Amino acid sequence: MENGLREWHFHGNEELTVSSTSMRGFLHILRESLNKDDGRPCFNLGQGDPSAFPSFQTSIIAQDAVVDSLRSQKYNSYSQSVGIFPARGAVAENLSQDLPHRLSAEDVYLTIGCKQAIEYILTAVARPNASILLSKTAYADYDVKAAYSHLEVRHFDLLPEKGWEVDLEAVEALADDNTVAMVIVTPGNPCGNVYTRQHLNKVAETARKLGILVIEDEVYGHLSFGQNPFVPMGVFASIAPVVTLGSISKRWILPGWRLGWLVINDPNNILGINIMVEQRLRLHASS
Ligand SMILES: *Cc1c(COP(=O)(O)O)cnc(C)c1O
Repeated sequence: MENGLREWHFHGNEELTVSSTSMRGFLHILRESLNKDDGRPCFNLGQGDPSAFPSFQTSIIAQDAVVDSLRSQKYNSYSQSVGIFPARGAVAENLSQDLPHRLSAEDVYLTIGCKQAIEYILTAVARPNASILLSKTAYADYDVKAAYSHLEVRHFDLLPEKGWEVDLEAVEALADDNTVAMVIVTPGNPCGNVYTRQHLNKVAETARKLGILVIEDEVYGHLSFGQNPFVPMGVFASIAPVVTLGSISKRWILPGWRLGWLVINDPNNILGINIMVEQRLRLHASS
């Protein structure tokens, strides 16, 4: 106020400090707080990234394809904001192998890792007063990105005695007319659940009953080690529309390449994607 000057008006966005609790963030705080003088070695058991080890390298074919694209000089321009058509088509073809319907390139939006796909879909469904249903153990990014979009989050339990299935009674009890979507993660991080066909069918029936969208995070798709084979939620998209999120980070061990996707499985065209997703995606063009 002195000298006729006003006080500085900017402040950091407090929501960032309240909601930004990533595992890596915690590990960083832990490492910073270690007593570095006591000489004991410290092993990182929170690695979470196998590509750091020589036995988990991606295929030479994939590396060569990227090198060839780079050298071709054909891909130095701004690309379409939702990803180049051949790459979208390749994802559609790959995922269609496990689905009763065929995806087309138009159903696929490429993103910067699965994390950006999470951001896109939560932004797309965040109309005023909307809420979404998340499991209490959901990947932390869902809560964080929901907070950015002012989406209310309601948490349901997973049932450990039933292989960490979704407590669908709780889902029904939590939903109301403003609930727009529920999120499931299969194969699940951190519980390791791989949902059966029967359970996914029930998830779809519940979503149909509630009139909500199922957002399925299958970033660990096909990485199932127990009895249950991986079944994508998209198989049940004719019961309730499914938005599938994935990336090459886990199955293809390439987290640093930051390539992910958001895929609309909606054979009955319930969503009207032009209104619901496409406009928002353009807005957020990953230019
Ligand atoms: C790792 C992970 C992500 C993020 O994937 P990226 O492709 O690295 O952005 C999303 N969801 C779950 C459940 C994850 O474990």
